[in-house]
Formats: sequence, structure tokens, C-alpha cells
Amino acid sequence: MNSITFLGTGGGRFVILSQRRYSGGIWLDIGQRIILDPGPGSLIRALQYGKRCDKLDAVFVSHKHLDHYNDAEIMMEAMTAGMKKKHGTLVISGPALEYISEYHRSMADIITPKNNEKFKINELEIQAIPTYNHFEGIGFKFFTSDGIITYTSDTGFHEDLIGNYKNSKILILNVIFPTGKSSDAHLNTMDAIRIVKEAKPEIAIIQHFGMRMLNSNPYLEAKKIEMESGVKTIAARDGMAIDIEKLTSAESDNMIFFGNHSSDFSEEKSDKQIKLM
Ligand SMILES: [Zn+2]
Repeated sequence: MNSITFLGTGGGRFVILSQRRYSGGIWLDIGQRIILDPGPGSLIRALQYGKRCDKLDAVFVSHKHLDHYNDAEIMMEAMTAGMKKKHGTLVISGPALEYISEYHRSMADIITPKNNEKFKINELEIQAIPTYNHFEGIGFKFFTSDGIITYTSDTGFHEDLIGNYKNSKILILNVIFPTGKSSDAHLNTMDAIRIVKEAKPEIAIIQHFGMRMLNSNPYLEAKKIEMESGVKTIAARDGMAIDIEKLTSAESDNMIFFGNHSSDFSEEKSDKQIKLM
């Protein structure tokens, strides 16, 4: 089963520091096992949600911010059997590579893709896509056997980006801010509406929420995007797993809530698979 598991849905400094939402990045089981943007706590959350870090094929880092690269080295250690055998690939934006030690770089293949460049992790085809006004970051398009998964990464809004998001089965958008707070370097709900309306994925998933977004309630912001765009839109939750073929979601096994961590979830949660469409 091809799936996407959110090891964290927090973004921005204060959410990361408080861990009001986790910051472990996104785990992809899509023929290859990939950890995408392993922020602080990625290893812990992967273990918590029952992921086999020793089976990783690749670590992806979209840009040089700590909430995206912090756990890259430890995930590479897991991927290389504790640095005992060279294995797997680090895919990383050029400017972020300097944050990875020589020691770690020496134990994996390294790809620093240019905008629009296509490359492969074993049989899986991937394309790097541009971001706007965000520290030379890159997004990614994953060409899975169940359709295209597109990840915007952190980016400012620019109309020219939207073409890159078309033909996606699932479009994952890092929407840090809610309606009413705009930024040149990040998306807010209004930007997401424009993108989703035009890119028309089967499903849009918003994540990487900052404090204002959490206070506005991401679930309601997602509903706004859905109403305006006509595209089913979900606010990701920590531990949420999506079956890419069936487009169902479930909470991950082995889920442990610490304290009142999940207090800002306003949706009803269930052990059952929920149909998204
Ligand atoms: Zn970020």
C-alpha cells in the first residue's frame, strides 16, 4: 500500500519550540521509503508511529531551515545501519548541503537537484519544482504508481508556480498562515485557495501550521479552501496516514498522545479508515 504519514504538521518557530504540533516531516511509503523534511523530533515520531527508519531509501531536505533539516543526519544514520554501510540517497537543496557533515555525506549518494530536474530513487521518478522567495528551496513531485503526489514545500505565492502543481492526485501545501495574515515568503489560506482552484488536484492537504493558523483552526481554514475551490481539502493531523490509492485516512498505530498535545484538534477522530472522497 502506498501511503503518506504526517510525522508532524507544525511550522514556524513557536510551534516548533512548543511542539504544539510535532515537526517530524512527512514519511512516504511509495515503493521507496522516504522521509521528507525531517525537522526536530523526526526520529522519535517515526518510531512512535511504527516506521522502520532502518529501511529508509532516501532522506529529502527541501531547504536550509531547521524545521526541515534538523533530523536529517540522524535519519541518515538510521538509513545506513548506524553508519556501517553506505546506503540510500540524500536529496537536498544545494544551499542546505553545507548543514550536513562531511562524515554523513560520505555514507549516502547525494543529489542536489536543480529546478524542474527529474531524477530517480531506484525505480521511483521524482521532479524538483521551484519555490518562490524562500531561500532557494525546492518542492517535489513524486510519480507514484497510484498517481502524482506534489509537495509545495515552504514558498511565497507566485502565479507562475501553479503550473507545477497541476495533474496531482494529492497536493500537499505548506500553509503556515490563515486568512488575513500575508507574507512574501509563505502561503496563507487565500494563496492556497488560488493555487488549489487552478491546480485542481483530486485532494489538497494543508500542513506546516504556524501559531496563528492553529489559533484560527486549520480544520476551518481547510473548509474555506474546499468551499472556494471545489476541491476536497484536509487539514493534516499529527500521525494521520493517507492511503494514496483509495484516498482514505486513518490515525497511525502506536499513537501516543503526550499531555494535551492534541487539544487543538477539533475534528472527530476514529480508529477507522475514513473515506476522503
Ligand atoms: Zn518551514
